[in-house]
Amino acid sequence: MTTRYDAIIVGTGQAGPPLAGRLTKAGWRCAIVERGRFGGTCVNYGCTPTKTLVASARAAYMARRAADFGVAIEGPVRVDMARVKARKDAIAGRSNEGITEFVKDMENAVVFEDHAVFEGDKRLRVGGETIEADRIFINVGARAAIPPIEGLDGVPYLTNASILDLERLPDNLVILGGGYVGVEFGQMYQRFGSAVTIVDRARRLMSSEDEDVSAAIREIFENEAIEVITGATIEAVARDGERLRVTLAEGEGRRTLAASHFLVAAGRKPNTDDLGLETTGIETDDEGYITVDDRLRTSVDGVYALGDCNGRGAFTHTSYNDYEILAANLLDGDDRRLSDRFTAYAAYIDPPYARVGASASELRAAGRKALIAQMPMSGVARARERSETEGFMKLLVDAHTHEFLGAQMIGTGCDEVLHCILYAMYAGAPYTAIERAVPIHPTVAELLPTMLKQLEPLD
Ligand SMILES: Cc1cc2nc3c(=O)[nH]c(=O)nc-3n(C[C@H](O)[C@H](O)[C@H](O)COP(=O)(O)OP(=O)(O)OC[C@H]3O[C@@H](n4cnc5c(N)ncnc54)[C@H](O)[C@@H]3O)c2cc1C
Repeated sequence: MTTRYDAIIVGTGQAGPPLAGRLTKAGWRCAIVERGRFGGTCVNYGCTPTKTLVASARAAYMARRAADFGVAIEGPVRVDMARVKARKDAIAGRSNEGITEFVKDMENAVVFEDHAVFEGDKRLRVGGETIEADRIFINVGARAAIPPIEGLDGVPYLTNASILDLERLPDNLVILGGGYVGVEFGQMYQRFGSAVTIVDRARRLMSSEDEDVSAAIREIFENEAIEVITGATIEAVARDGERLRVTLAEGEGRRTLAASHFLVAAGRKPNTDDLGLETTGIETDDEGYITVDDRLRTSVDGVYALGDCNGRGAFTHTSYNDYEILAANLLDGDDRRLSDRFTAYAAYIDPPYARVGASASELRAAGRKALIAQMPMSGVARARERSETEGFMKLLVDAHTHEFLGAQMIGTGCDEVLHCILYAMYAGAPYTAIERAVPIHPTVAELLPTMLKQLEPLD
């Protein structure tokens, strides 16, 4: 039996549920399909649980630093991982319950808790049923990519999802990958009390950022005794009694690391390989990301891809913005586009790293005439008062239009401070609008006008 709907939403990540909410309110009868936990990665295996754990790790770190602030803690600081996990489960669990209720209580929607597979451009099989619609919205997300490493299949390796279930602290955690997932877990577990080693085949951590960002992160990590090995490829992982043996190739040389736990944080893979796309005209790129145009339309008319699976963003805010674009275009007579969006993200290490727009190296490579201003966090009174002076802020401005081209900041409060520049970029405001503002003292953001008085050509 085939049931027809006005729309089918596959996956309940950050875009599917709010879109279903808008469509059903507008009178569309929708089928919503979810094979796992409602809310997808962010709520269950990504942002919410990791940032909850980052907060526990920071509490442990600050407790150990208490004496720096004149606060005496008698005895060693101990982390109770069972309680850390219980706190994380409670906070992430509430978010999951909220979204589950939102989806299941939605009027005008039928919810399928099963895996969906395309059987043609506008038809899907879900469990024993076939469903069809003229409009289909694909929000299937991505999962941890597992590289082909000798022996990996035979050992109990961790991913961003399974590491969240650990009740006990790993003695030695080796992490494959120095991208934002690897660095967040690395610092967090070192602060919980594990001995952490991060290995990346790139020459530096967070290798798509400017060199000075990578260097600052490395220095912060090495000051916390995190071992960072870059320019090394993990070739093999094997059991060694109760432990694991990780073999690295560094140039011509080989060496082994002993580990109690091994986390694979080597990028993401879109959940499109088991979606039956071969029965459709929906095109993907070489990595399996669904190809979309500036308005999120796939190569099949009436089928759209939102969130991580379209490869045009890899964050909660980009997935949610995909929903906003489609809702505006389909229901509000608007014409919103992906290209209206500035790239922006943060890595929730401590202190945080945040970025919007272009980096200095990207502007240099593009030959763009730009101005740059930089300030070390040691020049920020608020950072000194907090005894958190690592990092720097960097602002980039178009030399002719005076509009912001980008900003990168690593330092205390910088995930929030970056938004001053981000909002100015959306407002299309020239840097002089901020340069002449009178900020509140003492804040980190108060240094932005000062920095803008010191702009110089980017060479
Ligand atoms: C460790 C980690 C930390 C992160 N931290 C941040 C952060 O701090 N800030 C940030 O902005 N982003 C962060 N992200 C990224 C963020 O989680 C994702 O970008 C975000 O969840 C958007 O996902 P999505 O909407 O594309 O789909 P997802 O949330 O991945 O959801 C897709 C859903 O589709 C379902 N599904 C897949 N295939 C099928 C199928 N065939 N049939 C039915 N259902 C299917 C899945 O079960 C899943 O529930 C983090 C990611 C990770 C891994």
